[in-house]
Amino acid sequence: MQDIISLDRSYVAGTYNRFPVVIDHGKGSVVWSRDGKRYIDMGSGIGVTAFGIADDEWQRAVTEQLSRVQHMSNLYYTEPCARLAALLCERTGMKKVFFANSGAEANECAIKVARKYAAEKKGAEYSTIVTLENSFHGRTLTTLAATGQAHYHELFQPLTPGFVHTPAGNIEALREIVSTHKIAGILMECVQGEGGVIAMDRDYVKAVAELAAKEDILLMIDEVQTGNGRTGELYAYMNYGISPDVVTTAKGLGGGLPIGAALLSEKVECVLGFGDHGSTYGGNPVCSAGAYSILSRIDENLLADVRKKSAYVFESLKDAEGVESVSGLGLMIGIKTGKPAAEVVKKCMENGVLCLTAKDKVRLLPALNIPMEVLSEAVEIIKKACKE
Ligand SMILES: *Cc1c(COP(=O)(O)O)cnc(C)c1O
Repeated sequence: MQDIISLDRSYVAGTYNRFPVVIDHGKGSVVWSRDGKRYIDMGSGIGVTAFGIADDEWQRAVTEQLSRVQHMSNLYYTEPCARLAALLCERTGMKKVFFANSGAEANECAIKVARKYAAEKKGAEYSTIVTLENSFHGRTLTTLAATGQAHYHELFQPLTPGFVHTPAGNIEALREIVSTHKIAGILMECVQGEGGVIAMDRDYVKAVAELAAKEDILLMIDEVQTGNGRTGELYAYMNYGISPDVVTTAKGLGGGLPIGAALLSEKVECVLGFGDHGSTYGGNPVCSAGAYSILSRIDENLLADVRKKSAYVFESLKDAEGVESVSGLGLMIGIKTGKPAAEVVKKCMENGVLCLTAKDKVRLLPALNIPMEVLSEAVEIIKKACKE
């Protein structure tokens, strides 16, 4: 194991402060390290492996497509891309999909759509995008500008201009910005993930949607982390009773393969025309086949199961010793503990459970299909780590 760690440290750019563990293989919600230790995976690669590691049905869909054709340029049609787009639209009521390779790129597409829509409708000076303080929208220079956390910005100035941030939950502050800036769109998470697993207030989200509709400003919901069943609805906005103009997603969609998507509502379905945007890998047939396998199985039964498991985790943890509060929605859960989150995560890891952090919280994003007995085994270990 040490040989892999030193090879990685020598040659991989030092952007990740990794734990000293080499993951070798896994099945479902359990992974094994090189040295044979078993871990319950409560992070799913940051909400990516929606049906766990090496899920049989997903693996079949992916390998079957791999043996047909792994990639063609977007000069030609392929079946998985077309079928996935149709399924996404059918399940959301959206009208068109642009495929990208990551969450940041899906957001880049949304921002381009908002700017082009506003330029054509109101004039090119209507270019500003509002996002929320404490948000996270990606690592490209433009999505960093969108991200409402100053510490991500410091070393990379100048960022893309045309972004302003407003405090989450304060509709008056947003009204003020809308009346003093030329706004193209609002980009927000319904549950801030990297910002500490904080679900937005229902009335606030509704008021934002009403304001956006009234002013003809695009409402763009970043569902990169919250999407694809994570919050107990197919997309988190469905918990809030709103109809966004654009929805972006990625992480869980491909079940472990890189794919992002911007879903476009009727209002903006024709904004992007030939040559306006593109991506070499966008809609790649293997990634699309994997995503189709995931999305087609996120049905009402599975979502009910996510909600049930969520209630179980909230119930088990909320009064547990050492736990100050539990936040989030569905299987996107943040735990505020008396100790630093990193210490709890380390203790969990020693005891065979992989957890994440988000700001000062311990963050859980287990696979949507994690078996109940595996989930309860993990919860007991987490409870113990919070208490010690
Ligand atoms: C992870 C994340 C992103 C960035 O996704 P990448 O695939 O890493 O580019 C954007 N928005 C939100 C809400 C995320 O959680």
